[in-house]
Amino acid sequence: MNKEERANILLVEDEENLHETLKLNLEMEGYSVTSAFDGSAALKASQEEYFDLIIMDVMLPEMDGITVIENIRLDNNDVPVLILSAKNAGQDRVLGLKKGADDYLTKPFNLEELLLRVDKLIIKNKKISDKDFAFDTYIFDGNTVDFKAQQATLKNGSTVDLSKKETMLLKLLIENKNLVVTREKILQSVWGYKVYPNTRTIDNFILTFRKYFEEDSRNPKHFFSVRGVGYKYID
Ligand code: CA
Repeated sequence: MNKEERANILLVEDEENLHETLKLNLEMEGYSVTSAFDGSAALKASQEEYFDLIIMDVMLPEMDGITVIENIRLDNNDVPVLILSAKNAGQDRVLGLKKGADDYLTKPFNLEELLLRVDKLIIKNKKISDKDFAFDTYIFDGNTVDFKAQQATLKNGSTVDLSKKETMLLKLLIENKNLVVTREKILQSVWGYKVYPNTRTIDNFILTFRKYFEEDSRNPKHFFSVRGVGYKYID
């Protein structure tokens, strides 16, 4: 795994020794690790940063791990979650998986097994987000977008160069035309791993698209932001 593709993991574990051991081992595997020692810190981190995986202890001070996962899923965040639990009860496992965890390990666990599962969950998630785009060019309303060349020919005949991120966001929106693409999904697909632009950043991209492609940028017909949810392209 090269540095560029280095996966970002949120590690939520309140037992300090175990936390340090896990962090050290994950970092030795080449992962980037963000630490949280309680539920509310975990929730806050998940809202501010993109993660490829969350490793979540169940028994945490204040807010337990299952409640944290429930809250993360409420934000439309589909990050994979690996649960760690001291409990042997099958009940706990079923509950965790029902609430949206992707995998489960019971303490004490084998470190090798944890690393294998981490690797598997991250690869599975990447495969979904890296899936190939279905087309190279797209024509709408007199505009032609060439995704490979990262260029667009506008209806007035002028050509503009698109940045890589502009191209990716445009493609993502167009592929999901008439559907709202969540902010979470955009951050995951366009900004990728450990960068956290605020909503304003995506808004600025949308403003640029309107300037390029809309007849009247103040009265858009194609590029919309849906307050509190995400963004949408309409054909
Ligand atoms: Ca604990």
